[in-house]
Order: sequence, then C-alpha cells, then structure tokens
Amino acid sequence: MAYHLSAAKLQTYQTCPKSYYFKYERGLPGGGFGKSQALGTALHKALAQIYQDWDYLQPMPSFEWLEYCWQNHSQDLDPGQFREGLTILKNYYDRFMTELPSLRRPLAVEGKIQAPWFLDNIEFTLSGRYDRLDWLGDDLELIDYKSTKEIKSLDSNRIDLQLGLYAIALQHIYNCRLKKLSLIYLRTGDKIEFEVTPEHDRRVRQTIAKMAKQLRGEREWKPHQTKACDRCQYSRYCPAIHAEPDPLPESAKPERELQLTLDL
Ligand code: SF4
Repeated sequence: MAYHLSAAKLQTYQTCPKSYYFKYERGLPGGGFGKSQALGTALHKALAQIYQDWDYLQPMPSFEWLEYCWQNHSQDLDPGQFREGLTILKNYYDRFMTELPSLRRPLAVEGKIQAPWFLDNIEFTLSGRYDRLDWLGDDLELIDYKSTKEIKSLDSNRIDLQLGLYAIALQHIYNCRLKKLSLIYLRTGDKIEFEVTPEHDRRVRQTIAKMAKQLRGEREWKPHQTKACDRCQYSRYCPAIHAEPDPLPESAKPERELQLTLDL
C-alpha cells in the first residue's frame, strides 16, 4: 500500500518525530477551530470565488464583485469580523488588482494535489492543498494566502519541504516546473516570494527522499524538545516533558506495523 506524504506531515516530522507519532500515527486531534480561523476560512473561500467565477471576457472587476463574493461566504461571521474581512479584501483589491490591465485566469483555485511517487520501488502518494495556481509562461507559481495577524518568521527548512513536495507533485500532474511559491499576507498586504532554482529543487528532493524512507521505517519517534514544546498540544502525553505522561485516550488509532524499507 502506498505511504501517504504531505508537506504538513514532513514538516511535523522534521520539527518533532514524537508529535508526528501522536498526530498521524495515533490520530490524536489537534487544536480547536477558533473565531479567527473562521474569518480566515471565509476569506479563502471568497478569494477562490473571486478568481473562479469571474467572467474573464470582461475587463477588470470592480470592488463590487469582491463585495458580492464576500457576502456569499461571510454569513457565519459576527458583524465585527464581517467588516474586518471586507477591509482586508479592499486592501487586497487596491494592492493586487487595481493596477492590472485585466484579471488573469488562474490554472486552478483551492486545489488538491495528489500524485504517486516511486522511490527505490516503494510507492508514496504525495498530497497537498493550495489556494491558487498561476501560469508563469511555461512554469507555475503557487500562491498561498495567509490570514495571520503578523508575518511569522519563516523557517527556511519548512518552506523547502513544502516547495519540494509540491514541485514533485506538480511536475507529475502538469509536466511543468514549479518556479515560485508566493505567500500573500492578507492583513498586511505583503507578498513574500520563494524562487525554485534547479539546484534547490535537486537538493530538496534529496532531503524529501531521505525523510520519506526514514518515516516509513520509523519506530522510535524520538521527542525533539524545543521552545515549541510550550505550545505543543500533545505535551501531556510526552515522556520528554512528563516523567509520568498521561496514557493515550482509547480513541487513539492502533500502532501500525513496521513497513519494509528495503528495496523490493
Ligand atoms: S512536547 Fe515537545 S518533544 Fe513532546 S511531542 Fe510535543 S514538541 Fe515533541
């Protein structure tokens, strides 16, 4: 059976194998669904409709089009969040749309990538989600909207894993190279771009291949203590934090059997 890999999985494993074990191997739930996430989700859905349903035979949309899409996806928000979201979309419109001669149709919005990947005769399934995928001539630009209040310092290793995995999957699906990953911070209007060079691509693929094989044969799931442990939702179960950690809940998935990592 193919082993499922995503950028989120690789990033979690890279941060702490033990937290990967709790989350993906034993299926323990993560954090809750907070109010600010509801605003972020509504913004993502409105932006998807703005690009997906626009009549591209028309010139640039006016802001009324964005308002209309916002109305469609903000019914569950309170009035303060509704106004905040509208202001964010107005800033987005001013920053990223008004100066364009026309709106360019994306290749896809709110998409799911799924592609097989064979490594030493072992089958992996690569999967991930993206907010928007644009053509850049012959290459691709992947766009992720961020709705956090501030720009968090970005861990280049985490970005590399995301870029590398998407590059492999998109090459398989579209037979095109991923040239750029752009993060658009909706609240601040900042756009941060990461270029993918062939050398970078090669190096990241090697890292992913190594991690993928490690993951498939992993048994120890060693805790990796860092400052992030303060925010870890699994710390009560973690032997690195508590001499007598809580037992896992009965709802936890059974442990999987070790899979062969040798070449077949
Ligand atoms: S508390 Fe720290 S070491 Fe333990 S699982 Fe969480 S991140 Fe890993």
